[in-house]
Amino acid sequence: MILLDGKALSKKIREGIKRKVVELKQSGIIPGLAVILIGDNPASQLYVNMKTKACEDVGIYSINHRMPAEISEDELISVIKMLNDNPMVHGILVQLPLPKHIDEERVIESIDYKKDIDGFHPYNVGRLVRGYPLYYSCTPYGIMKLFEEYNIELEGKDAVIVGAGNITGKPMASMLLNANATVQMCHIYTKDLKDKTINADIVISAVGKPNLITEDMVKEGSIVVDVGISRVGDKVVGDVDFENVSKKSSYITPVPGGVGPMTIAMLLSNTIKAVEVNKGL
Ligand code: NAD
Repeated sequence: MILLDGKALSKKIREGIKRKVVELKQSGIIPGLAVILIGDNPASQLYVNMKTKACEDVGIYSINHRMPAEISEDELISVIKMLNDNPMVHGILVQLPLPKHIDEERVIESIDYKKDIDGFHPYNVGRLVRGYPLYYSCTPYGIMKLFEEYNIELEGKDAVIVGAGNITGKPMASMLLNANATVQMCHIYTKDLKDKTINADIVISAVGKPNLITEDMVKEGSIVVDVGISRVGDKVVGDVDFENVSKKSSYITPVPGGVGPMTIAMLLSNTIKAVEVNKGL
């Protein structure tokens, strides 16, 4: 079994980004990321702090907009429009989930697609599905980078994705399909999950349910990627029973230290790309 070490790869990627930021600054450009956080959800606060810190570490200028949970949809959209028009801001990130009274889709659509470094805007989703992406969503992009780093060939592989969310599952399916894998999507209504996973060359789980993927559900030599994040007591765990599944798999991501650090690294990478997209470099 080989560990898909997201911590090590993300460090390497961040070092490359740091060098790129120095070059950009020498030509008078400071990459800028605007991060919007609504309300005081502790998990969202933690993610925003991690992203801001990661920006600081590589020299990206990040501007935090923290707003109360009661903010109206229109007020939020007017802040986004202001950021769309600000040439110092290359990327805009709205930390999800949003409070219930705000229409997430309308907010995402209000972000200039050229600054949509999360790749959630329908324009960017559409481009990915059609096979000519502008921005790749950070989490599945990080997983693709792990496959690349470990020379894992995707063409012709049978991949099963468990979890069909907009953040991971759906864009992951498009990326794997674009890489000529055969993709099957599973979700809460899937009748017999094991029946789908047991023959898969690649199993990617993005659900948020500890021990969802057990040893009896994967075939010998499979590649297993665990996206899930759940708290069990004071421990952070994924969806995969790592201890037992790792005995059968050829490659597997740990939690923590697998997909999580890659997501942040790809956010930084997309922000650098945003400089090029917005400046036409
Ligand atoms: P989501 O929360 O939008 O959707 C979850 C999906 O899981 C849905 O399609 C649902 O149908 C499916 N599902 C729920 N219970 C299931 C079950 N018992 N069997 C099969 N499918 C089931 O998805 P998301 O936003 O991608 O988040 C999924 C998990 O990944 C969460 O734990 C989240 O915290 C984590 N996550 C981690 C990272 C990271 O960087 N490591 C990034 C994004 C999300």
